[in-house]
Amino acid sequence: MLYKKNIIFNQQIKETYTHLKELELNTICVEGNCPNIGECFSKGKMTFLILGDTCTRNCLYCNVNKSKRGKELNFGEIENIKKIISLHRLNSVVITSVTRDDLIDGGSHYYALLCKELKEFNNKVSIEILTPDFGYDEKSINTIITSHADILSHNIELTQSLYKKYRPVGNYTKSLDILKQYAQSGKKSKSAFIIGFGETDDDIKQTIYDIASTNIHYLSIGQYLAPSKNHLKPLKYYSHEYFQTLSEWVKENFNFEKIDVSFYSRSSYLDA
Ligand code: SF4
Repeated sequence: MLYKKNIIFNQQIKETYTHLKELELNTICVEGNCPNIGECFSKGKMTFLILGDTCTRNCLYCNVNKSKRGKELNFGEIENIKKIISLHRLNSVVITSVTRDDLIDGGSHYYALLCKELKEFNNKVSIEILTPDFGYDEKSINTIITSHADILSHNIELTQSLYKKYRPVGNYTKSLDILKQYAQSGKKSKSAFIIGFGETDDDIKQTIYDIASTNIHYLSIGQYLAPSKNHLKPLKYYSHEYFQTLSEWVKENFNFEKIDVSFYSRSSYLDA
């Protein structure tokens, strides 16, 4: 795959793979074939993928398995996340999920239960949740806002012009509404999108304006990389200089608390 980073398999990375396998835990790092996996695993960073490994949406750029029905919820997963927190002495976790349009609450109560149990297990562990849109259901979004998570994140994913083609079930405007609610929750909030699908410079800047208007705290922008040979190829690879210039423009024009704008940036790559 183009632009994949080389991984030098040190002890920490090997142990992470082994423990994830033994505990039957999914991560978006592995399922999404993330280019940062070596770097993150060697620093004890990983993003757990809950609600199964099968997504009910069909976004063309994503590597996760897809089907109309997801997997049965596995409540044993909560205990296993606690075990890996202990094994790797994690002081923060990032949790994301597939989209579960086949569940009445989209899995929002499972998110809330997991956060509650993790805080009861160790309230010093910071919990960031990167959520799907829950079909834009207000009750589900409220369940997330009132959960024990410390950081609420929802990715805009793409510029608005590309939604119809690449993210047909998503709704850009409604996702911005979720961000507004996350930003007003009193918790830290975060969003990200990737570029390389044929969007224009104006599309990128407009998306940044739109995200900034929600008042979220953290923003990441990175290059789309095809997760496998069978996936959509990027229409454009932006240079490191382009990202550098964009990063400076964002710093000059907006008041995000933190930004991470670079070729390899991903939402969970930015330490919140
Ligand atoms: S950037 Fe996020 S998804 Fe990628 S390896 Fe790091 S923690 Fe995992």
